[in-house]
Amino acid sequence: MNKKAIFFRTGYLLSALSAAWLFGGCGEPVKPPIVPEVSSVFMESSQGEFEEEWKETAPSDVPEESEDSFSVETSPEELSMAEEGKRGDYLVVIDAGHQKKGNSEKEPIGPGATEEKAKVASGTQGCSTKIPEYELTLAVSKEVEQILLDRGYQVKMVRDTNDVDISNAERAQVANEAGADAFVRIHANGAADSTVNGAETLCQTAQNPYNAVFYEDSRRLSEAVLEGLVEATGCKKRFVNETDTMSGINWCQVPVTIVEVGFMSNPEEDERMATEEYRGKIAEGIANGIDAYFGL
Ligand SMILES: [Zn+2]
Repeated sequence: MNKKAIFFRTGYLLSALSAAWLFGGCGEPVKPPIVPEVSSVFMESSQGEFEEEWKETAPSDVPEESEDSFSVETSPEELSMAEEGKRGDYLVVIDAGHQKKGNSEKEPIGPGATEEKAKVASGTQGCSTKIPEYELTLAVSKEVEQILLDRGYQVKMVRDTNDVDISNAERAQVANEAGADAFVRIHANGAADSTVNGAETLCQTAQNPYNAVFYEDSRRLSEAVLEGLVEATGCKKRFVNETDTMSGINWCQVPVTIVEVGFMSNPEEDERMATEEYRGKIAEGIANGIDAYFGL
């Protein structure tokens, strides 16, 4: 086990042990999620480690165009039609995190696992706005869906209403069965410290026992989506959090990322995420990240 894996396992243990401390900020305790899909509270110190991995590789191996090669002029219009055509080849499955009522029944955290977790946690809520996480995630997910459809992608939503009962493993299976080229799970974060803010994304580790084969793509998707989101919103960039504790990731047989779009436990970010304008920026940023992941 490498240093990072040990770190994350330790981090998750700390998070799990401290789930009882999870409050919504603003001085008002919020009912903690049964099993919070929030494992980042204690990960802040790892930021340096992640940022080192963020250095992008320069495309130095792109060949120079030789003088005698044919130069094909492409008008911006033709280019966008070509890109739209390419996007039409890709299916993006979007999972709006949580649902109206959590389901505390247990399910294995991965195929064949003996460890179990609640089927779907109830999520957090806005410390200032009192908006439940499941409402915010569905609103943002629908905006992402519309933008992706407008750009020519195929899109499938795991849910498009709040009153559903779909476990995290089942959500992953929706993406698997659809043959998703990217599975984007949209969530919002919560922390005991109401000053903590910003966005992060999550994926499995390279040692994930169920789907390590999708690690590289999931990591790249997570980086691209985080970058797009931060660029569009101007929010604080946290990090890509690699963890093997999420059932909805472990059950995936497709590239996956969880996007924590911001902290509902931070009053300013909570208020901002309640506005149409900011939600639009979040959605645009996530869509831009998906474009970047596919090289578009
Ligand atoms: Zn969540």
